[in-house]
Formats: sequence, C-alpha cells, structure tokens
Amino acid sequence: MEISIPTLLRIKPNAIYKIGKYLRKERFTRIALFYGTGIKELLGEPLAISLDSSEIQVVHEETIATNDAEEVIKSAFTLPGNVQAIVAIGGGKVVDYCKYAAFILQLPIISMPTSISNDGFASPGASLVVNGKRKSQKAKIPFGVVIDTEVIRKSPEFYTFSGIGDLVSKYTAVFDWKLAGRVKQEPVNDFSVLISINAVDMMVSYKHKEIRDLEFLRLICGCLVMSGVAMEVSGSSRPASGSEHLISHAYETIAPQPSLHGLQVGVATYAISWLQNNPEHHTIKKVLEDTGFVNYLSQNPLDKASFIEAIKYAPNVKENYYTVLSDKDNMARLIDFVRKDEYFGNFVR
Ligand SMILES: [Zn+2]
Repeated sequence: MEISIPTLLRIKPNAIYKIGKYLRKERFTRIALFYGTGIKELLGEPLAISLDSSEIQVVHEETIATNDAEEVIKSAFTLPGNVQAIVAIGGGKVVDYCKYAAFILQLPIISMPTSISNDGFASPGASLVVNGKRKSQKAKIPFGVVIDTEVIRKSPEFYTFSGIGDLVSKYTAVFDWKLAGRVKQEPVNDFSVLISINAVDMMVSYKHKEIRDLEFLRLICGCLVMSGVAMEVSGSSRPASGSEHLISHAYETIAPQPSLHGLQVGVATYAISWLQNNPEHHTIKKVLEDTGFVNYLSQNPLDKASFIEAIKYAPNVKENYYTVLSDKDNMARLIDFVRKDEYFGNFVR
C-alpha cells in the first residue's frame, strides 16, 4: 500500500503572503488557481502579489461554486497541459473540487483553507455531489497544506467551533473502530489509531483554549491535518469517522436546515460518548465547554426531532460499517437520552 503524506506544510500568520515563495521552493512555477466563492475579492490581491514576486505563472484561474462531480471532471480535462500543480483557496467546496481534479489528473494539490470547519482540507477523500446526492469519493491527499492563521482568526467563529467538533469525534470514532474489530473482526490499524488519538489529545491538553488565539488555532489546524493523515495511513475513514459521523450525515438529509458538519458531529460525539460509556466522555464535555462550543450551540441549537430521526437512520448511511449504533437496544437508549437528558438540552431544541 502506498501512503502519501503532505510534504509542504505551513501553518502560521500571514502565510498567504509567502505562497509564491513556498511554490517556487517546490519547483512549481505553472499553477492552476481555484478560488471559493467570494475569496478572490477577499484575498486575491495579496495572493497575486506573492505569486508575481516569485514569478509563478497562473495558467488557469477559476472561482468554484459547486462540488458536482461531473463539473469537476469536465473542468479537469480543460486545464492546460503544462499545469504543474493545483492550488485551492477557500472553504470545503473548492478544496474537495480540486482534490478530485488533482486525483483525476495525477497532479499535486496545495490546499489553502480559509476556514477550518472540518478535516477535509488534509484528507484523502472528497465530498462531491453525484447525481444530486452527496457522496464521499476517493481523491488525493494534498501535497501541500498552507494555512494563514490570521485569516482563520478573522473567519466567523462557528467555522472554528465546527473544526473542534470534528476533532473531538476521534475519541468516539476510534472506539467504534475497535468495537468493530472485536465484534466483526474488522482489521484495526494501530498506528492510525495512535495518530488520531494523539491529535485530539493535543487539543485537549492545550491550556489556553481561546479560539481567537493564534497559537491555539495553529494547534487545531495541525491536529486536523493529522486526522487526514490517519485516514491515509489506514486507507479508510475509520480513524476519523464513527457513529457520530453517521448521525451527522443522516441529519444533513433529514433536517429542514442542516448546520455545519463539525457542529453536528460535535453534538453527536457528546451523545455517542455517553452511549459508549467512553472513558473520554467527561473530557469531551469539558473541551466543548472550555472552547465555547456549548455556549454557541445553546444559542444555535440543532433540531431535536430531526436529530432523533437521524439516530434511527444512521446505521443505514454506510454499508458494512459496524458501530455502537448497530445494536437496536443501544439505539433506543440513545434516543431516550436525547429526549430526556437535561444537559443535552443545550445542543438541541
Ligand atoms: Zn468529519
């Protein structure tokens, strides 16, 4: 099995001003540049100055508003043949779009997320729309991840809360994976488990959990990269995604107004960790409190009825994916918990 790991990794304030220098160092001088919606207006200028001053040629430039698989394929094959690397700057959509295009064309991709709402900017999969339905596709793990923490600091806080929710779910995901190992003899990759758990432990043990703190943001970004790498190492989403993710995916299709991936995942992680009798249940609760996640959710709660429906539907989201929710009694216990637990009332209404 071939494992690739991001080679170019820069997470620091004002990294965007140095992108030209980073690309030149890697000998990429002709790139295709893809922006997310509204990003060119926001960051196009410093980016252009940086690329210009390092004499990087932008041979194709486009703003992406879709992650439809057919659009990606069409666009990939119209790229000029002399492109050496694809650069994606923006949110999840443009990064997913470019990861898949890079996979088709076998080109390196450099992802420059402008918010950190999930681990997608450094993961080997891409979430795309195929025939009107959201699907996870195999794609390429980015060759480079460049994150300007000043840009992240200025992004709306719910994106960062979402990233924290996605990160804390490694505890419940790994628990489900090990459970599947015991019950279904599914192979568990210990090294992948180590990376995943270390990533979330690092965030947990950081003292000053202030989401506008550049050092804390740098740490979260690094941990999300590790989550992506854990998936690459095991060749599956297991180290990063368990029953809490299944609930979130189901909620997305059921709720009248879905929230952000990581916000849904964070809420589901709290509930699932209770169900699993997970030793980290209280750690999870404390992290969500200390970072401000709980406070934000209490003002922007998820829809309780949809959440309960999502729990019921969750085991059907992925085939052959054994989790704590595969047991019918467990499912009933969790629904009861969501209905009655007073503290959980912070997350849903
Ligand atoms: Zn996730």
